[in-house]
Amino acid sequence: MAENYDLIAIGGGSAGVAAARRAAQYGAKVLVIERGAMGGTCVNVGCVPKKVMWHAAELAQAFRDATDYGFVVTQPAHDWARLVERRENYIRRLNGIYEHNLEKESVKWVTGVARLVDAHTVEVDGKEYEAPHIYIATGGEPVIPDLPGAEHGISSDGFFACTERPQRVAVVGSGYIAIELAGVLGSLGSDVQLFARYDSILRSMDEMIQSAAIEGLEQHGIGVNLDSIPASVSRDGGELTLETANGKQHGPFDELIWAVGRQPLTAELGVAEAGIEVDDRGYVVVNKFQESNVEGVYAIGDVTGQLELTPVAIDAGRRLSDRVFGGMEGRYLDYENIPTVVFSHPPIGTVGLTEAQAREKYSDAVKVYTSDFVPLYYGVLDEKVRAHMKLVCVGEDEKVIGCHIAGQGSDEILQGFAVAVKMGARKQDLDDTVSIHPTSAEELVTMR
Ligand code: FAD
Ligand code: NDP
Repeated sequence: MAENYDLIAIGGGSAGVAAARRAAQYGAKVLVIERGAMGGTCVNVGCVPKKVMWHAAELAQAFRDATDYGFVVTQPAHDWARLVERRENYIRRLNGIYEHNLEKESVKWVTGVARLVDAHTVEVDGKEYEAPHIYIATGGEPVIPDLPGAEHGISSDGFFACTERPQRVAVVGSGYIAIELAGVLGSLGSDVQLFARYDSILRSMDEMIQSAAIEGLEQHGIGVNLDSIPASVSRDGGELTLETANGKQHGPFDELIWAVGRQPLTAELGVAEAGIEVDDRGYVVVNKFQESNVEGVYAIGDVTGQLELTPVAIDAGRRLSDRVFGGMEGRYLDYENIPTVVFSHPPIGTVGLTEAQAREKYSDAVKVYTSDFVPLYYGVLDEKVRAHMKLVCVGEDEKVIGCHIAGQGSDEILQGFAVAVKMGARKQDLDDTVSIHPTSAEELVTMR
């Protein structure tokens, strides 16, 4: 006989756990099914281990900068294995906290691979579970391209499994993960070559951000190879060679990292059998209320193919449970003006429309303010890392519809400005705010 619940969340990642806990807080009887470690991609092979590595990379740079700040330092050796051990211990603690939080809310969970028997019945290891409400929150996995020799490369998952730092590394891709992992490896001492298939990187972001990202990578000694379409990978002993479509051979490398996007985990889930509509890439098709085409079946987080960010997964999940179990009719996540940060060196932050998007939408009504400067921190250093900022405004009242920043501290600066953009701030509102001096953030309220 099947076990019955009010809600079954398939996937114990950011979306599934947040939504399950919120539903339980309203008194629902909830089951979470997770095939791996609790916390999903973000905790285990995403944001958390990545940010730990980013901090290590920032520290490495700080040691290099220290001499110009008067410190007499011998450049320290770096023990990658120790960092990985400390990082993984921290993650195990987080896994425990996730489980404890579920227990606290009386959410039950089972470990195993879930498969939909029908739209309201889920099978795990031969046992069936039923609920009138099913949340599909299975997230995604890295794409490994279908190319000869692609299996010689690793993905971001493989990067986090490395217990030694590879010395010569090819990073293929031009999005968040490519830039972040290239930056970490480069800062910690690897020789890194990045391969982007078109003439820029981070192509969905503002052009100023794209060039700032290239500048940041090159300043850290990372080779940026544009117009380089991967064609094949070959292995000779321990050495890898990447061939690009223009016939060029690149290498040898000790490791090649594929960072060419992610794909949803729906193929094995039985969505087709349950009649749930997915698009041609396998993402569950949902409306603004996260509802699929089947009543009582919803999808949240990366599996929907919308903005693949942890806070988006969490907020969409919580709002869904507020609506389904908390009586908050009409509640949904507004996907506009969601801020995001690329943890590069220096970091990049962006919210709202790019200049190009704004000009396409509002043509001449757009006014743009920019600033390009050397943050004070670099004043005493020989090596200057510039900061670039842009405000995209529209209309007579110059409403700020885009804020793009690259430079030291951007990761922390953006959140507050995202509040302002979300609230509909005008350029004048920023100008009317007294600046905090001396900071990089003050540039955003003093632009002319
Ligand atoms: P997931 O977290 O992927 O959770 C899905 C869960 O479902 C997984 O645990 C999986 O094991 C489980 N599952 C799948 N299929 C089944 C099944 N059939 N049965 C049972 N369980 C199943 N976002 C940010 O906001 N900031 C960052 O800095 C950031 N950095 C990132 C760095 C990397 C390297 C990566 C890969 C991603 C990063 N992200 C970041 C994105 C973020 O991790 C995701 O957007 C977020 O984890 C999505 O949450 P989710 O719950 O939708 O999916
Ligand atoms: P992204 O979508 O960011 O970037 C992947 C890029 O790879 C594509 O944009 C594309 O760029 C390029 N690409 C695609 N296919 C190929 C191919 N066959 N050969 C060469 N290049 C290719 O994906 P990521 O994997 O970097 O990250 C997945 C998502 O996870 C991100 O979109 C983001 O939402 C999230 N994430 C968030 C982070 C954060 O918040 N800091 C950090 C890491 C991930 P082009 O078209 O220019 O070639």
